Amino acid sequence: MNYYSLNHKAPNSTFKNAVIKGLAPDKGLYFPESITPLPKSFFDKIDDLSYSEIAFEAIKQFVAPEIPEDVLKTIVEETLSFDFPVVKLNDNISTLELFHGPTMAFKDVGARFMARCLGYFNKNNDKEVTVLVATSGDTGGAVANGFLGVKGVNVVILYPSGKVSEIQEKQLTTLGQNIKALEVNGTFDDCQAMVKTAFLDESLTSQMQLTSANSINVARWLPQLFYFMFAYKQLHNQYDNIVFSVPSGNFGNICAGMMAQKLGLPIKHFVASNNVNNVVTRYLISQLYEPKPSIQTISNAMDVGAPSNFIRIQEIYKNDFVTLKENLSSFSFTDEETKAAMLEIFENYNYVADPHGAVGYLGCKSYLNENPDAHCVFLETAHPTKFLDVVENVVKEEQPLPEQIQSVMGKEKEAVIVSTYQDLKDFLLN
Ligand SMILES: *Cc1c(COP(=O)(O)O)cnc(C)c1O
Repeated sequence: MNYYSLNHKAPNSTFKNAVIKGLAPDKGLYFPESITPLPKSFFDKIDDLSYSEIAFEAIKQFVAPEIPEDVLKTIVEETLSFDFPVVKLNDNISTLELFHGPTMAFKDVGARFMARCLGYFNKNNDKEVTVLVATSGDTGGAVANGFLGVKGVNVVILYPSGKVSEIQEKQLTTLGQNIKALEVNGTFDDCQAMVKTAFLDESLTSQMQLTSANSINVARWLPQLFYFMFAYKQLHNQYDNIVFSVPSGNFGNICAGMMAQKLGLPIKHFVASNNVNNVVTRYLISQLYEPKPSIQTISNAMDVGAPSNFIRIQEIYKNDFVTLKENLSSFSFTDEETKAAMLEIFENYNYVADPHGAVGYLGCKSYLNENPDAHCVFLETAHPTKFLDVVENVVKEEQPLPEQIQSVMGKEKEAVIVSTYQDLKDFLLN
Protein backbone atom coordinates (compact mmCIF):
# COMPACT_ATOMS: atom_id res chain seq x y z
CA MET A 1 0.00 0.00 0.00
CA ASN A 2 1.18 3.49 -0.77
CA TYR A 3 0.44 6.48 1.39
CA TYR A 4 0.04 10.14 0.49
CA SER A 5 0.68 13.19 2.61
CA LEU A 6 -2.36 15.15 3.74
CA ASN A 7 -0.37 18.31 3.01
CA HIS A 8 -0.16 17.15 -0.63
CA LYS A 9 3.34 18.58 -1.09
CA ALA A 10 5.41 15.41 -0.74
CA PRO A 11 5.85 12.33 -2.92
CA ASN A 12 3.76 9.26 -2.15
CA SER A 13 5.39 6.81 0.22
CA THR A 14 5.60 3.08 0.78
CA PHE A 15 4.35 1.65 4.07
CA LYS A 16 7.95 0.98 5.07
CA ASN A 17 9.04 4.56 4.48
CA ALA A 18 5.95 5.93 6.24
CA VAL A 19 6.72 3.83 9.33
CA ILE A 20 10.39 4.79 9.40
CA LYS A 21 9.79 8.51 8.77
CA GLY A 22 6.59 9.01 10.77
CA LEU A 23 5.68 12.31 9.11
CA ALA A 24 5.94 13.15 5.41
CA PRO A 25 8.72 15.58 4.39
CA ASP A 26 6.08 18.34 3.99
CA LYS A 27 5.10 17.65 7.67
CA GLY A 28 1.77 16.15 6.60
CA LEU A 29 0.26 13.00 8.08
CA TYR A 30 0.29 9.94 5.83
CA PHE A 31 -3.01 8.44 4.65
CA PRO A 32 -3.55 5.21 2.65
CA GLU A 33 -4.14 5.66 -1.09
CA SER A 34 -7.08 3.27 -1.09
CA ILE A 35 -9.37 1.42 1.34
CA THR A 36 -10.89 -1.76 -0.06
CA PRO A 37 -13.85 -3.08 1.95
CA LEU A 38 -13.55 -6.64 3.25
CA PRO A 39 -15.89 -9.19 1.62
CA LYS A 40 -19.29 -9.78 3.19
CA SER A 41 -18.24 -13.37 3.92
CA PHE A 42 -15.63 -12.02 6.36
CA PHE A 43 -18.31 -10.45 8.54
CA ASP A 44 -20.69 -13.41 8.08
CA LYS A 45 -18.11 -15.83 9.47
CA ILE A 46 -16.55 -13.52 12.07
CA ASP A 47 -17.74 -15.87 14.86
CA ASP A 48 -15.40 -18.55 13.51
CA LEU A 49 -12.34 -16.31 13.33
CA SER A 50 -9.82 -15.77 16.14
CA TYR A 51 -8.76 -12.23 17.05
CA SER A 52 -5.46 -12.75 15.24
CA GLU A 53 -7.24 -13.96 12.11
CA ILE A 54 -9.58 -10.97 12.16
CA ALA A 55 -6.68 -8.57 12.65
CA PHE A 56 -4.62 -10.19 9.93
CA GLU A 57 -7.41 -9.91 7.33
CA ALA A 58 -8.22 -6.35 8.37
CA ILE A 59 -4.70 -4.89 8.24
CA LYS A 60 -3.26 -6.93 5.35
CA GLN A 61 -4.02 -4.47 2.56
CA PHE A 62 -2.36 -1.61 4.44
CA VAL A 63 1.02 -3.29 4.94
CA ALA A 64 1.34 -5.57 1.89
CA PRO A 65 3.52 -6.32 0.06
CA GLU A 66 6.31 -4.90 2.16
CA ILE A 67 5.45 -7.13 5.08
CA PRO A 68 4.99 -10.68 3.75
CA GLU A 69 1.92 -12.59 4.92
CA ASP A 70 3.77 -15.10 7.10
CA VAL A 71 5.67 -12.31 8.88
CA LEU A 72 2.45 -10.34 9.33
CA LYS A 73 0.76 -13.36 10.90
CA THR A 74 3.51 -13.57 13.50
CA ILE A 75 3.48 -9.81 14.15
CA VAL A 76 -0.28 -9.84 14.70
CA GLU A 77 -0.19 -12.89 16.98
CA GLU A 78 2.58 -11.43 19.13
CA THR A 79 0.85 -8.04 19.28
CA LEU A 80 -2.46 -9.50 20.46
CA SER A 81 -1.27 -11.79 23.24
CA PHE A 82 -3.94 -10.65 25.73
CA ASP A 83 -7.72 -10.35 25.89
CA PHE A 84 -10.23 -7.65 24.78
CA PRO A 85 -13.42 -8.49 26.69
CA VAL A 86 -16.73 -6.68 26.37
CA VAL A 87 -18.52 -6.23 29.72
CA LYS A 88 -22.24 -5.54 29.59
CA LEU A 89 -23.55 -2.90 32.02
CA ASN A 90 -27.17 -2.95 30.87
CA ASP A 91 -29.17 -3.60 27.71
CA ASN A 92 -28.03 -0.36 26.11
CA ILE A 93 -24.50 0.08 27.40
CA SER A 94 -21.40 -2.12 27.35
CA THR A 95 -17.73 -1.40 27.79
CA LEU A 96 -14.86 -2.78 25.75
CA GLU A 97 -11.88 -3.27 28.05
CA LEU A 98 -8.69 -2.30 26.24
CA PHE A 99 -6.42 -2.40 29.29
CA HIS A 100 -5.31 -6.00 29.52
CA GLY A 101 -1.93 -5.42 27.87
CA PRO A 102 1.46 -5.11 29.57
CA THR A 103 1.11 -1.41 30.50
CA MET A 104 -2.67 -1.55 30.96
CA ALA A 105 -3.44 1.19 28.44
CA PHE A 106 -4.98 0.73 25.00
CA LYS A 107 -1.84 2.17 23.44
CA ASP A 108 -0.12 -1.19 23.98
CA VAL A 109 -1.54 -2.64 20.76
CA GLY A 110 -0.39 0.18 18.50
CA ALA A 111 3.02 0.34 20.17
CA ARG A 112 3.60 -3.43 19.95
CA PHE A 113 2.52 -3.57 16.32
CA MET A 114 4.66 -0.60 15.31
CA ALA A 115 7.70 -1.94 17.18
CA ARG A 116 7.50 -5.24 15.34
CA CYS A 117 7.08 -3.58 11.93
CA LEU A 118 10.05 -1.33 12.57
CA GLY A 119 12.09 -4.27 13.86
CA TYR A 120 11.30 -6.22 10.68
CA PHE A 121 12.24 -3.35 8.37
CA ASN A 122 15.44 -2.74 10.27
CA LYS A 123 16.65 -6.27 10.78
CA ASN A 124 19.24 -6.20 7.99
CA ASN A 125 20.09 -2.57 8.34
CA ASP A 126 23.27 -1.42 10.05
CA LYS A 127 21.82 2.02 10.58
CA GLU A 128 19.91 2.21 13.82
CA VAL A 129 16.60 4.02 14.11
CA THR A 130 15.90 6.21 17.12
CA VAL A 131 12.32 6.52 18.24
CA LEU A 132 11.90 9.88 19.95
CA VAL A 133 8.70 10.42 21.86
CA ALA A 134 7.26 12.92 24.33
CA THR A 135 4.72 11.61 26.80
CA SER A 136 2.22 13.07 29.22
CA GLY A 137 1.69 9.62 30.73
CA ASP A 138 0.53 6.48 28.94
CA THR A 139 2.32 6.73 25.60
CA GLY A 140 5.75 6.49 27.20
CA GLY A 141 5.08 3.25 29.04
CA ALA A 142 3.39 1.56 26.10
CA VAL A 143 6.15 2.57 23.69
CA ALA A 144 8.91 1.59 26.14
CA ASN A 145 7.36 -1.81 26.72
CA GLY A 146 6.48 -2.39 23.06
CA PHE A 147 9.99 -1.60 21.80
CA LEU A 148 11.96 -3.28 24.58
CA GLY A 149 14.68 -5.46 23.08
CA VAL A 150 13.82 -4.68 19.43
CA LYS A 151 17.10 -4.93 17.50
CA GLY A 152 18.32 -1.85 15.65
CA VAL A 153 15.89 0.46 17.42
CA ASN A 154 16.70 2.85 20.26
CA VAL A 155 13.95 4.55 22.18
CA VAL A 156 14.25 7.93 23.87
CA ILE A 157 11.28 9.07 25.94
CA LEU A 158 10.88 12.60 27.27
CA TYR A 159 8.53 13.12 30.19
CA PRO A 160 7.78 16.15 32.36
CA SER A 161 9.33 15.86 35.80
CA GLY A 162 6.74 15.48 38.56
CA LYS A 163 3.79 15.55 36.16
CA VAL A 164 3.23 11.86 35.45
CA SER A 165 1.87 9.43 38.04
CA GLU A 166 4.28 7.28 40.03
CA ILE A 167 3.12 4.16 38.21
CA GLN A 168 3.52 5.81 34.82
CA GLU A 169 7.02 7.00 35.71
CA LYS A 170 8.06 3.51 36.83
CA GLN A 171 6.70 2.03 33.60
CA LEU A 172 8.97 4.16 31.47
CA THR A 173 12.12 4.51 33.59
CA THR A 174 12.78 0.96 34.81
CA LEU A 175 13.20 -1.14 31.67
CA GLY A 176 16.82 -0.52 30.68
CA GLN A 177 18.27 -2.12 27.50
CA ASN A 178 17.39 -0.01 24.45
CA ILE A 179 15.00 2.28 26.35
CA LYS A 180 16.24 5.61 27.73
CA ALA A 181 14.11 7.99 29.76
CA LEU A 182 14.80 11.73 29.88
CA GLU A 183 13.24 13.60 32.76
CA VAL A 184 12.54 17.12 31.57
CA ASN A 185 12.53 20.12 33.88
CA GLY A 186 9.34 21.52 32.38
CA THR A 187 5.85 20.69 31.17
CA PHE A 188 4.57 18.21 28.60
CA ASP A 189 4.41 21.06 26.09
CA ASP A 190 8.15 21.67 26.67
CA CYS A 191 8.85 17.98 26.01
CA GLN A 192 6.84 18.08 22.82
CA ALA A 193 8.52 21.30 21.67
CA MET A 194 11.96 19.69 22.15
CA VAL A 195 10.92 16.65 20.11
CA LYS A 196 9.59 18.87 17.33
CA THR A 197 12.80 20.91 17.30
CA ALA A 198 14.82 17.70 17.01
CA PHE A 199 12.82 16.50 13.99
CA LEU A 200 13.44 19.84 12.24
CA ASP A 201 17.15 20.05 13.17
CA GLU A 202 19.10 19.04 10.08
CA SER A 203 22.41 18.99 11.92
CA LEU A 204 20.86 16.16 13.94
CA THR A 205 18.73 14.35 11.33
CA SER A 206 21.68 14.22 8.92
CA GLN A 207 23.48 12.11 11.50
CA MET A 208 20.72 9.84 12.75
CA GLN A 209 17.40 8.37 11.62
CA LEU A 210 14.71 9.73 13.93
CA THR A 211 11.09 8.59 13.97
CA SER A 212 8.02 9.21 16.07
CA ALA A 213 5.87 6.67 17.90
CA ASN A 214 2.69 8.56 18.53
CA SER A 215 -0.53 8.07 16.58
CA ILE A 216 0.67 10.17 13.66
CA ASN A 217 2.70 7.07 12.74
CA VAL A 218 0.53 4.83 10.52
CA ALA A 219 1.85 1.66 12.17
CA ARG A 220 0.65 2.86 15.55
CA TRP A 221 -2.61 4.34 14.33
CA LEU A 222 -4.06 1.64 12.04
CA PRO A 223 -3.94 -1.44 14.33
CA GLN A 224 -6.40 0.33 16.63
CA LEU A 225 -9.11 -0.56 14.09
CA PHE A 226 -8.94 -4.12 15.45
CA TYR A 227 -10.74 -3.15 18.66
CA PHE A 228 -13.96 -2.26 16.91
CA MET A 229 -14.00 -5.60 15.11
CA PHE A 230 -13.33 -7.48 18.36
CA ALA A 231 -16.29 -5.75 20.03
CA TYR A 232 -18.51 -6.44 17.03
CA LYS A 233 -17.60 -10.13 17.16
CA GLN A 234 -18.73 -10.25 20.79
CA LEU A 235 -21.96 -8.28 20.36
CA HIS A 236 -23.40 -8.70 16.88
CA ASN A 237 -25.52 -11.75 17.70
CA GLN A 238 -27.25 -9.81 20.47
CA TYR A 239 -27.54 -6.28 19.13
CA ASP A 240 -28.06 -4.34 15.90
CA ASN A 241 -27.34 -0.63 15.85
CA ILE A 242 -23.94 -0.81 17.55
CA VAL A 243 -22.53 2.61 18.41
CA PHE A 244 -19.05 3.33 19.80
CA SER A 245 -18.28 6.05 22.31
CA VAL A 246 -14.56 6.75 22.22
CA PRO A 247 -12.81 8.85 24.91
CA SER A 248 -10.78 11.04 22.60
CA GLY A 249 -7.65 13.16 22.85
CA ASN A 250 -5.63 13.10 19.66
CA PHE A 251 -8.50 11.30 17.89
CA GLY A 252 -6.31 8.45 16.65
CA ASN A 253 -8.44 5.72 18.21
CA ILE A 254 -11.80 6.97 16.94
CA CYS A 255 -10.32 7.67 13.52
CA ALA A 256 -9.13 4.04 13.38
CA GLY A 257 -12.71 3.01 14.22
CA MET A 258 -13.87 4.97 11.20
CA MET A 259 -11.36 3.02 9.11
CA ALA A 260 -12.94 -0.22 10.39
CA GLN A 261 -16.29 1.14 9.26
CA LYS A 262 -14.78 1.93 5.83
CA LEU A 263 -13.69 -1.71 5.68
CA GLY A 264 -17.38 -2.63 5.96
CA LEU A 265 -17.82 -3.16 9.70
CA PRO A 266 -21.50 -2.38 10.39
CA ILE A 267 -21.15 0.43 12.92
CA LYS A 268 -24.18 2.68 13.21
CA HIS A 269 -22.54 5.78 14.66
CA PHE A 270 -19.56 7.18 16.58
CA VAL A 271 -19.53 9.37 19.65
CA ALA A 272 -16.38 11.37 20.38
CA SER A 273 -16.42 11.80 24.15
CA ASN A 274 -14.33 14.69 25.37
CA ASN A 275 -13.40 16.30 28.65
CA VAL A 276 -13.38 20.11 28.61
CA ASN A 277 -10.75 20.02 25.86
CA ASN A 278 -13.57 20.00 23.35
CA VAL A 279 -12.45 21.46 20.04
CA VAL A 280 -14.35 18.77 18.11
CA THR A 281 -17.54 19.07 20.17
CA ARG A 282 -17.52 22.78 19.36
CA TYR A 283 -16.71 22.14 15.70
CA LEU A 284 -19.76 19.90 15.24
CA ILE A 285 -21.95 22.70 16.58
CA SER A 286 -20.41 25.72 14.90
CA GLN A 287 -18.52 24.21 11.94
CA LEU A 288 -15.57 26.29 13.12
CA TYR A 289 -12.38 24.43 13.99
CA GLU A 290 -10.71 26.45 16.72
CA PRO A 291 -7.83 24.73 18.58
CA LYS A 292 -7.01 26.10 22.04
CA PRO A 293 -4.20 25.49 24.54
CA SER A 294 -4.97 22.37 26.57
CA ILE A 295 -6.59 22.47 30.01
CA GLN A 296 -5.52 20.00 32.72
CA THR A 297 -8.20 17.48 33.79
CA ILE A 298 -8.48 14.15 35.64
CA SER A 299 -8.71 12.36 32.26
CA ASN A 300 -5.29 13.74 31.37
CA ALA A 301 -4.59 11.54 28.33
CA MET A 302 -7.32 13.54 26.61
CA ASP A 303 -5.96 16.97 27.49
CA VAL A 304 -5.29 17.87 23.89
CA GLY A 305 -6.08 21.29 22.47
CA ALA A 306 -5.33 20.53 18.82
CA PRO A 307 -6.00 16.84 18.02
CA SER A 308 -3.47 15.72 15.42
CA ASN A 309 -5.64 13.04 13.80
CA PHE A 310 -8.66 15.22 13.14
CA ILE A 311 -7.26 15.94 9.68
CA ARG A 312 -7.46 12.21 8.92
CA ILE A 313 -11.13 12.20 9.92
CA GLN A 314 -11.73 15.12 7.57
CA GLU A 315 -10.06 13.10 4.82
CA ILE A 316 -12.25 10.03 5.48
CA TYR A 317 -15.32 12.25 5.03
CA LYS A 318 -13.80 14.15 2.10
CA ASN A 319 -14.16 17.34 4.13
CA ASP A 320 -17.94 17.07 3.96
CA PHE A 321 -19.41 18.44 7.17
CA VAL A 322 -22.89 17.02 6.60
CA THR A 323 -21.85 13.37 6.16
CA LEU A 324 -19.40 13.67 9.05
CA LYS A 325 -22.14 14.96 11.30
CA GLU A 326 -24.46 12.12 10.30
CA ASN A 327 -21.89 9.62 11.52
CA LEU A 328 -20.28 11.44 14.45
CA SER A 329 -21.67 13.07 17.57
CA SER A 330 -19.53 14.66 20.24
CA PHE A 331 -20.14 15.62 23.84
CA SER A 332 -17.93 17.27 26.42
CA PHE A 333 -17.90 16.73 30.20
CA THR A 334 -16.35 18.42 33.22
CA ASP A 335 -14.29 16.69 35.92
CA GLU A 336 -17.23 16.95 38.32
CA GLU A 337 -19.50 15.16 35.83
CA THR A 338 -16.79 12.56 35.25
CA LYS A 339 -16.43 11.78 38.97
CA ALA A 340 -20.22 11.59 39.37
CA ALA A 341 -20.30 9.13 36.46
CA MET A 342 -17.57 6.98 38.06
CA LEU A 343 -19.67 6.80 41.23
CA GLU A 344 -22.86 6.04 39.27
CA ILE A 345 -21.16 3.21 37.36
CA PHE A 346 -19.83 1.79 40.61
CA GLU A 347 -23.11 2.04 42.50
CA ASN A 348 -25.41 0.86 39.69
CA TYR A 349 -23.25 -1.81 38.07
CA ASN A 350 -20.55 -2.58 40.63
CA TYR A 351 -17.99 -1.69 37.98
CA VAL A 352 -14.91 0.50 38.55
CA ALA A 353 -14.21 2.75 35.57
CA ASP A 354 -11.18 4.98 35.11
CA PRO A 355 -11.82 8.70 34.38
CA HIS A 356 -11.37 8.24 30.59
CA GLY A 357 -13.83 5.36 30.46
CA ALA A 358 -16.27 7.37 32.57
CA VAL A 359 -16.21 10.18 30.00
CA GLY A 360 -17.00 7.53 27.37
CA TYR A 361 -19.91 6.28 29.50
CA LEU A 362 -21.32 9.81 29.70
CA GLY A 363 -21.03 10.07 25.91
CA CYS A 364 -23.13 6.90 25.61
CA LYS A 365 -25.78 8.28 27.91
CA SER A 366 -26.04 11.56 26.00
CA TYR A 367 -26.33 9.73 22.69
CA LEU A 368 -28.90 7.24 24.02
CA ASN A 369 -31.11 10.10 25.19
CA GLU A 370 -31.87 10.85 21.56
CA ASN A 371 -31.37 7.32 20.18
CA PRO A 372 -32.81 4.84 22.68
CA ASP A 373 -32.67 1.90 20.23
CA ALA A 374 -28.90 1.82 19.99
CA HIS A 375 -26.44 -0.35 21.88
CA CYS A 376 -23.56 1.90 22.87
CA VAL A 377 -20.10 0.52 23.64
CA PHE A 378 -17.70 2.85 25.44
CA LEU A 379 -14.01 2.04 25.25
CA GLU A 380 -12.29 1.56 28.60
CA THR A 381 -8.89 2.88 27.54
CA ALA A 382 -6.91 2.41 30.76
CA HIS A 383 -7.07 0.28 33.88
CA PRO A 384 -8.57 2.22 36.82
CA THR A 385 -5.51 1.65 39.03
CA LYS A 386 -3.42 3.77 36.66
CA PHE A 387 -5.42 6.66 38.12
CA LEU A 388 -5.44 5.33 41.66
CA ASP A 389 -5.84 8.62 43.58
CA VAL A 390 -8.92 9.77 41.69
CA VAL A 391 -10.50 6.33 41.56
CA GLU A 392 -10.07 5.48 45.26
CA ASN A 393 -11.28 8.94 46.19
CA VAL A 394 -14.51 8.45 44.29
CA VAL A 395 -15.39 4.83 45.03
CA LYS A 396 -14.00 4.94 48.60
CA GLU A 397 -12.62 1.44 48.35
CA GLU A 398 -9.04 0.30 48.13
CA GLN A 399 -8.28 -1.11 44.68
CA PRO A 400 -6.17 -4.24 44.30
CA LEU A 401 -3.13 -3.66 42.08
CA PRO A 402 -2.91 -5.97 39.07
CA GLU A 403 0.21 -8.04 38.34
CA GLN A 404 1.42 -5.67 35.59
CA ILE A 405 1.40 -2.70 37.97
CA GLN A 406 2.87 -4.52 40.96
CA SER A 407 5.79 -5.82 38.94
CA VAL A 408 7.15 -2.33 38.16
CA MET A 409 6.54 -0.76 41.56
CA GLY A 410 9.63 -2.22 43.22
CA LYS A 411 12.01 -1.43 40.37
CA GLU A 412 14.67 1.24 40.39
CA LYS A 413 14.07 4.41 38.33
CA GLU A 414 16.76 5.40 35.83
CA ALA A 415 16.45 8.74 34.07
CA VAL A 416 18.70 11.46 32.71
CA ILE A 417 17.69 14.99 33.64
CA VAL A 418 17.52 17.50 30.78
CA SER A 419 16.56 21.15 30.80
CA THR A 420 17.22 22.53 27.33
CA TYR A 421 17.10 21.40 23.71
CA GLN A 422 20.90 21.42 23.68
CA ASP A 423 20.87 18.85 26.53
CA LEU A 424 18.65 16.60 24.43
CA LYS A 425 20.81 17.02 21.35
CA ASP A 426 24.00 16.25 23.29
CA PHE A 427 22.36 13.16 24.68
CA LEU A 428 21.24 11.93 21.26
CA LEU A 429 24.63 12.52 19.64
CA ASN A 430 26.54 10.65 22.32
C1 LIG B 1 -4.24 8.17 24.62
C2 LIG B 1 -5.41 7.95 25.47
C3 LIG B 1 -6.70 8.39 25.09
C4 LIG B 1 -6.95 9.20 23.85
O1 LIG B 1 -6.77 8.47 22.65
P1 LIG B 1 -6.60 9.24 21.25
O2 LIG B 1 -6.34 8.18 20.25
O3 LIG B 1 -5.43 10.17 21.43
O4 LIG B 1 -7.86 9.99 21.00
C5 LIG B 1 -7.78 8.07 25.91
N1 LIG B 1 -7.60 7.40 27.06
C6 LIG B 1 -6.38 6.97 27.47
C7 LIG B 1 -6.27 6.26 28.77
C8 LIG B 1 -5.25 7.22 26.69
O5 LIG B 1 -4.05 6.80 27.12
